[in-house]
Amino acid sequence: MKEKVKYTVITGASSGIGYETANAFAKRGKNLVIVARSRENLEKLKMEILHDNPSLDVIVKSVDLSIIPNVHQLYQELKQYCIETLINNAGFGNYSSVANQNLEKVETMLRLDIEALVVLSSLFVHDYQNIEGSQLINISSCGGYIIVPNAITYCASKFFVSTFTEGLARELQACNAKLQAKVLAPAATKTNFGNVANNIEGYDYDKSFGAYHTSKQMADFLLKLYDSNEVVGLVNRETFEFELSSSLFDYAENSKHNQK
Ligand code: NAP
Repeated sequence: MKEKVKYTVITGASSGIGYETANAFAKRGKNLVIVARSRENLEKLKMEILHDNPSLDVIVKSVDLSIIPNVHQLYQELKQYCIETLINNAGFGNYSSVANQNLEKVETMLRLDIEALVVLSSLFVHDYQNIEGSQLINISSCGGYIIVPNAITYCASKFFVSTFTEGLARELQACNAKLQAKVLAPAATKTNFGNVANNIEGYDYDKSFGAYHTSKQMADFLLKLYDSNEVVGLVNRETFEFELSSSLFDYAENSKHNQK
């Protein structure tokens, strides 16, 4: 592991929220490992970042994280770097009734949104839980706190992300770990998400939503969460305000019914 030089790892950095998050962390002088399938978009982002911040180190990792052996391989490759922050942002959604959902797409979504995130989170926590200043930020959705019609499976996957990350934060706090685990829950944000979730090109956010954020705004919210000591950064789906808070799910901390 290279000493001292620290990196922020961002999955799903080739577009949308991940892309702007990479720019935002670069502005803070953070070296980056940017991950997604599209090498072309990642190289473009790297050039943009180095143009404005030539002293930074930006590592490109082109990898399909819906293939779980690739996720383990990626983490092995990351072992040579000192990771300060891991941001599990890669993900996509799907709008459909459960009865009619395309199972091939849904299975891929569950592997990416859930399995890849759990593998990377677990390996990172194992290695960095006692390193001061380390952070894990997992990207959920406000659909990970409320069930949205016609997006049941996607919401369930994001409930997983929210409960997993909140539970992990509790586990880390209980053993006085140095690593902080946090969850960001965006509401509608204008990205490529709408195209992918609806299997179309040219998804119209203005027609489809009364309000939405831009990726830049979401990256700013992520930085607010990063700078805080709170666990949850949630966009209120009704007011579109960003709210920082402690864990929102109930936790059976002192229940007499817990396994002894
Ligand atoms: P986006 O513009 O479509 O970005 C998704 C990112 O994930 C891209 O960089 C994409 O890159 C990457 N990705 C997709 N499949 C991948 C795979 N198999 N392996 C590796 N990377 C993959 O959408 P976004 O809105 O920024 O989404 C970012 C996160 O925010 C997601 O977790 C999403 O669920 C969440 N979110 C979005 C919204 C919203 O309204 N936009 C709301 C709530 C939560 P490649 O295609 O190059 O692989």
